[in-house]
Amino acid sequence: MKKIAILGATGSIGTQTLEVISQYPDMFELYAITGNDNWQLLAQQARQYQPEVVCVANESNYLPLKEALSDMPVKVYAGMESIAQMVQMSTIDMVVTAMVGYAGLLPTIKAIEAGKDIALANKETLVVAGELICELADKYKVKILPVDSEHSAIFQCLTGEQLNPIEKIYLTASGGPFRTFSYEELKHVTAAQALRHPNWTMGAKITIDSASMMNKGFEVIEAKWLFGLNAQQIEVLVHPQSIVHSMVQFADGAVKAQLGTPDMRLPILYALTYPRRMQTNYERVDFLKISSLTFEAPDTKRFRNLAFAFEAMERGGNAPCVLNAANEVVVKAFLQGKIGFLQMSDIIEDTMQQTEFLSSPSYEDYVQCDAMARRMAQQLIEK
Ligand code: NDP
Ligand code: MG
Repeated sequence: MKKIAILGATGSIGTQTLEVISQYPDMFELYAITGNDNWQLLAQQARQYQPEVVCVANESNYLPLKEALSDMPVKVYAGMESIAQMVQMSTIDMVVTAMVGYAGLLPTIKAIEAGKDIALANKETLVVAGELICELADKYKVKILPVDSEHSAIFQCLTGEQLNPIEKIYLTASGGPFRTFSYEELKHVTAAQALRHPNWTMGAKITIDSASMMNKGFEVIEAKWLFGLNAQQIEVLVHPQSIVHSMVQFADGAVKAQLGTPDMRLPILYALTYPRRMQTNYERVDFLKISSLTFEAPDTKRFRNLAFAFEAMERGGNAPCVLNAANEVVVKAFLQGKIGFLQMSDIIEDTMQQTEFLSSPSYEDYVQCDAMARRMAQQLIEK
């Protein structure tokens, strides 16, 4: 039995992970779940799935959560400090990092330091501090198993290829809801439009990141760290059907791809059971119903965030941390209707230009740099 903790159980990946785990009761035991604002759902999940520990990041939700679970034997905690301690409990084997944003960094570090394998959905962790995370994973001999569908695809293609170096990878991107919009049209798109992703149902932040292509930019950086690649080895292809989840090309020119319907349960399950594949009843690909699989180059003139991500990756140091912090601030402002879609990229660019470069940041440097870039992006929004 693998004992699992899910950080961000109340979100899109979190709820799907709970569903996956409950389908294989002989393989998994749910030890802990966390949430942030949605304490009602967290309480309901605690009742349904019976973990030993429940932790809510937002401390103001502690009392209502505790009250809602007062008739249950479950332990209830609150605050980020508690989550950081909880992931280190000796009973946990694997931590699923499904919380959104920079908040995922500290608990992921703590979990690695305690020797827990990580099923990594929280891509911001690798974007902000990929170098540090990889060093720690090496030092504490923990596995980082990708949940992101593209990285899971690459990981699956690499099975059995340990001796064969990667020549390059192709990261596929749906192109999001605005793939065919002109630059002029992008000036006027709303958050409501951006939240309607054509192929995937996800949390609000990653859905906006998908519409702006920042998500793909983050995935480029995530791939660099997970698979030890440089920028020249990573090519993004817009593939609107979202059937080919990504591809690997080897030295002999052979290309391996992983295909499937857009369903996050499969990459979640694979991360939890790797190297085993489990029987599922998930929808199969019906090749006769797919009229075509198409691929096109991304347009970094309309979707500048992708270019910023490549730039931040090449600069290294704290540049991706600044990119992430500025992005979190602008996405929030865009969702609140305070800035337009294209302004998000303008503010990210200005923030990146105005922050001091640090070539090898420590954890404390990342914390400071994140706070400083957020302040700067916020000031630019209010200007
Ligand atoms: P959601 O917004 O649906 O869920 C986010 C989760 O994080 C919720 O449980 C939320 O709690 C919790 N949370 C939010 N803010 C904080 C905070 N400050 N501190 C602690 N917990 C917090 O996001 P997704 O599930 O869509 O995405 C989660 C992560 O997985 C992201 O990093 C995303 O990029 C990545 N990912 C998601 C995919 C998807 O298909 N959804 C695909 C690939 C990667 P609450 O709801 O209680 O407030
Ligand atoms: Mg993805």
